[in-house]
Amino acid sequence: MIHKILIANRGEIAVRVIRACRDLHLKSVAIYTKPDADCLHVKIADEAYEVGAEPLKGYLDPKIIVETAKKCGADAIHPGYGFLSENYDFAKEVEDAGLTFIGPRPDVIRKMGNKNIARYLMRKNGIPIVPGTEKLNNETMDKIKEYARKIGYPVILKASGGGGGRGIREVWDEKDMESSFEACKREAKTFFNNDEVFMEKLIVKPRHIEFQILGDNYGNIIHLCERDCSIQRRHQKIIEIAPCPSISDNLRKVMGVTAVAAAKAVGYSNAGTVEFLLDDNNDFYFMEMNTRIQVEHGVTEEITGTDLVVRQIRIASGEILELEQSDIKPHGFAIEARITAENVWKNFIPTPGTITGYYPALGPSVRVDSHIYKDYKIPPFYDSLLAKLIVKSTGYDLVVNKLERALKEFKIEGVQTIIPFLLAISKSREFRRGFFDTSYVESNLQKILDATNDPMNPQKKDDEVVAAVSAVMQMINEKK
Ligand code: ADP
Ligand code: ADP
Ligand code: MG
Repeated sequence: MIHKILIANRGEIAVRVIRACRDLHLKSVAIYTKPDADCLHVKIADEAYEVGAEPLKGYLDPKIIVETAKKCGADAIHPGYGFLSENYDFAKEVEDAGLTFIGPRPDVIRKMGNKNIARYLMRKNGIPIVPGTEKLNNETMDKIKEYARKIGYPVILKASGGGGGRGIREVWDEKDMESSFEACKREAKTFFNNDEVFMEKLIVKPRHIEFQILGDNYGNIIHLCERDCSIQRRHQKIIEIAPCPSISDNLRKVMGVTAVAAAKAVGYSNAGTVEFLLDDNNDFYFMEMNTRIQVEHGVTEEITGTDLVVRQIRIASGEILELEQSDIKPHGFAIEARITAENVWKNFIPTPGTITGYYPALGPSVRVDSHIYKDYKIPPFYDSLLAKLIVKSTGYDLVVNKLERALKEFKIEGVQTIIPFLLAISKSREFRRGFFDTSYVESNLQKILDATNDPMNPQKKDDEVVAAVSAVMQMINEKK
């Protein structure tokens, strides 16, 4: 049995896990680095320990984290998402120290953490994968180009160890292959310390559909329906919807069975996600498996009435999953919008600073998962996610209305956020219709920006000043 959990993370996900601990009457332990001492997770945990002066190092150091857990008598570690959540060495170190890692077995993390190995395992088990190659690092450029011609342009180069939308390069023409390959390798090395790169066919205008998996330590595995995560920018999700508003029940069923088969093929346990790309012929392909809780898990919780973090903890404690597939009966629709501190007018650069006013949206079926509060100073060192707004309703039209209402109500003062941009998406015809693909945001960026009504829009103000100045100049010139 687990009694005390150390959360090896920060921000909203650390807060989310601490809340699950409270709900289960378990003790929670926060860790934090010095510049992060004011973060909400530090304030609300039962205990909190500093793990170093540098902003990131302590969150990424398995030794310090395991030592802290042992010292304070924690018997389990929850890794959250990002940081060390999909790191084999960390999971192994936790287990070797006699503690419980709240996630799948380390060997499963190792296999699925490498997209290339995951693709190989899936193909071997009859799961459809995106057509592509194995790792290309030992191939000549001529050979790489030959593969691309065989697959057919456009193709996409991907880092085997990639995540968070990084280490991905689309290649539309052979002339760009060499530079894209080198750039992809460099990015992979910088971000993931692993320069292994492989190639896939670029599925044009796909939908990103993923299935939430739950498995126990005894081989019972089910899925908790799908999420549509096609609203993305730079391969990163911005808005997620459960269930997908644009697939048939029949396709949903087939994809769900395939997702469970994929998880079974690797002996999966705990919470995880099988990600698919769906093309315009309704053919779908395995893309990757995330071996952790996802940012967007809340929408699945809302439609299935399941607390996924509580489930993670209970499964890790050795409980049998008493749910069967037929017990999972989703109700209605839920949407999550990721509210980040970014300036949409300046290419989404992060906007750290002090929050001078905070008025999260409220009301029936509106949930906000966040770690911020009034006077909180957002440090510049971490992810720009400030809050996840999650709304729920009985039908798709109604849930989009609710999203729009909640975004209008949600006010964060002192820093620029993407709330007005999210509102513009929620009002767009395509979003309301429920049919869009992963290229929607990028290819309609200007249109969405034009519809973004941002009271804190310095860009527009600049434009207005420029327009006023040029009007005056014109008048002066005309008078001359
Ligand atoms: P990450 O680990 O960064 O999440 P993924 O492999 O899941 O990387 O891909 C992230 C996103 O990139 C996908 O959701 C999709 O929008 C896009 N993408 C990835 N592979 C392909 C592909 N073969 N064709 C088209 N888009 C792709
Ligand atoms: P999800 O599928 O849960 O939405 P994302 O791919 O958007 O996950 O990533 C979740 C968070 O974790 C983001 O903050 C992202 O920057 C970070 N992240 C994901 N994968 C990695 C990785 N391999 N290394 C570092 N950070 C990562
Ligand atoms: Mg992914």
